[in-house]
Amino acid sequence: MEKISVAVRFRPPNPVAADPSPAGAGGVGDREWRIDDTRVSLLHRVAGPVPGASFAFDHVFDGAATNERIYGALVRELIGAVVGGFNGTAFAYGQTSSGKTFTMNGSNADPGIIPRAVRDVFDTVRQADDREFLIRVSYMEIYNEEINDLLTIEGQKLRIHESLERGVYVAGLREEIVNSAEQVFELLQLGEANRHFGETNMNVRSSRSHTIFRMVIESSGKDQTDCGDAIRVSVLNLVDLAGSERILKTGAEGVRLNEGKYINKSLMILGNVIKKLSENGKQRGHIPYRDSKLTRILQPALGGNAKTSIICTAAPEEIHIEETRGTLQFASRAKCISNCAQVNEILTDAALLKRQKLEIEELRKKLQGSHSEGLEQVVLKLRNDMHKSELERDRLAMELEDERKLRMTLEQHLTEQQKKLEAISSDHVTDSIQLDALKTPDSKSVPDGFVACRSRYSQDVEFSPMPEDLDNIAHEDLWTRLNKGCVTDLDMLEMTPGLKREASFLQDTTSAVPLDEPTDTRCQRLEKECISDRQKLEESKARCSTLEKECDVLRDENLSLQQELSESKREADSLLAEKQAQLDDLRAKCAALEKDLYTTRQEAHRLATEKQELAGELGTERQKLDELKQDIRVISRGFLQREGQLTSLYTKSKAILENCKTSQIMIMSLCVGSLLCEKVQWNIGRLRLPLVFCELQILYDL
Ligand code: ADP
Ligand code: MG
Repeated sequence: MEKISVAVRFRPPNPVAADPSPAGAGGVGDREWRIDDTRVSLLHRVAGPVPGASFAFDHVFDGAATNERIYGALVRELIGAVVGGFNGTAFAYGQTSSGKTFTMNGSNADPGIIPRAVRDVFDTVRQADDREFLIRVSYMEIYNEEINDLLTIEGQKLRIHESLERGVYVAGLREEIVNSAEQVFELLQLGEANRHFGETNMNVRSSRSHTIFRMVIESSGKDQTDCGDAIRVSVLNLVDLAGSERILKTGAEGVRLNEGKYINKSLMILGNVIKKLSENGKQRGHIPYRDSKLTRILQPALGGNAKTSIICTAAPEEIHIEETRGTLQFASRAKCISNCAQVNEILTDAALLKRQKLEIEELRKKLQGSHSEGLEQVVLKLRNDMHKSELERDRLAMELEDERKLRMTLEQHLTEQQKKLEAISSDHVTDSIQLDALKTPDSKSVPDGFVACRSRYSQDVEFSPMPEDLDNIAHEDLWTRLNKGCVTDLDMLEMTPGLKREASFLQDTTSAVPLDEPTDTRCQRLEKECISDRQKLEESKARCSTLEKECDVLRDENLSLQQELSESKREADSLLAEKQAQLDDLRAKCAALEKDLYTTRQEAHRLATEKQELAGELGTERQKLDELKQDIRVISRGFLQREGQLTSLYTKSKAILENCKTSQIMIMSLCVGSLLCEKVQWNIGRLRLPLVFCELQILYDL
């Protein structure tokens, strides 16, 4: 057992323009609501706290709280539990214009509980990669105590049913299988367009209906192959209630007034249910879930198998103090309620996932393998179509059952009428005394000197108004009074059992039998009734056969859908084979390319090694060249030195030769000088040769 989580949220005060009264503008009157952590109390500015107006809750939010904060505190955890297999419900309750729709739907800047929950469901599902999920959504409203499907304009005035497997459910409600949050938002948008809104003094776009957005989440372990494995089925209800309203404040009239009455009545019943549930178990007694469609649908969420969060919205202005106090009292009672939530696992074929799994699993896997988004869409559509035809078949089966019951009752009635008719006709022909007896006690004339005697038979007469204290002999006056002035022999009563007034099985008040009706007229009337019953029977038979035909059509549709499915399966197979061939081809090409790549890589590697080697060699050559250049520079310098020395020697030798021209010694010196000259010239030649070679080598390198 766990308690319902309850929070109170005050919306920001209305701007003065929207509510120009001092109290309406908020905070200017004598009294105000003071929020202190999880406690909210009513304070009088002068007298202090107002007695009996202080409440404590799990959470109390002021006007500054965002939808994100509310969602985090009350709903985030709930969504995790729902994906894990628990039922969950979150709803907003409060007077009109207190912020229920804002809390549930939110704005673009601060999305409300519904969009956040939808995103969270898909995020959580994506993270649970060991399970496979099937999610379907529906969206309905309860308007003037009638259930309308918001996802279709046809499915109006739907009925609530209950079964062991499905619990309480709305028959014929459109359910759409979805696989992304965006898909859900599109459906929500469609639903919003079909919803009933109206303008009142308090809210220009006041919700005139209760809306219930429902997500059914089915899941099974991915590695489960055996069809006997359990499937988890959980339901998430996100409810935006219409607000309670005071007719005087809203200024409602005409249609709005009528809507307001329905809204108030269903909220009052919700309040009664909450009150009963909050009472001690023994005193609790009967819980009036069946008194309204809203409480019937929310039955599992209120004291049943579900985790529930309630956000009670309130207006802070002084003018709304009484409504706010009512909301806080509702919230206080709600927080006393305990629910008994458990993971819902089912083994039967009631789980849609199970029914569709075997058929679609194989196809889906193949589609995933081939990454074909188009075919994934086809499968989703087929899934939806199959589910819709199943729902339609259920609805028709139910209608057929109703019709059958009606036909049986009609037939029974007809047989009874016929029997009566036969009995009356035979009596009419044979016994005139008995005809007399057919008259009701009221219509008999007073026999002379009659004293009403109570006979042994009169004990069992249920329809004669005998008082308890009547003994064996009735007082004549009393009897006369009881029978409106007529008296009768009580023993005659046993002779008219067939005339006991029965409530018509159709509760048709117009068919009341006049007590003094002559037998002929009665026969005619009964014949007429017989004819009309026969007509009804014929009509019901015709309806039955129409329904049977519809059933046949649906069966055919189902068959054709199955054929389509198998065709698309075949298509998927052939596509898969084609893709497989393409894949093989691509693989072969890939292998060849890989081989080429390998060879090229090897070649590149070899070239890189060679390049590295050459670079090394080049480095060595460059080093050698540098050394050679150095040598050349040294040799050039030596050569220039020698050249200078030799030039000066040559000049000196020349001078000596000229000096020795005139003397003999000069001849000797000449000889020596020429010898020196030759030697010098030879040396110059020898030195020049390597120099020229080196220059040539440098030129070649560059
Ligand atoms: P309800 O659904 O209870 O009738 P609404 O949600 O329609 O009321 O709110 C009435 C007005 O107050 C809307 O214009 C809404 O935007 C505004 N409102 C309600 N609550 C808040 C809030 N917490 N912050 C900002 N504006 C809010
Ligand atoms: Mg609203």
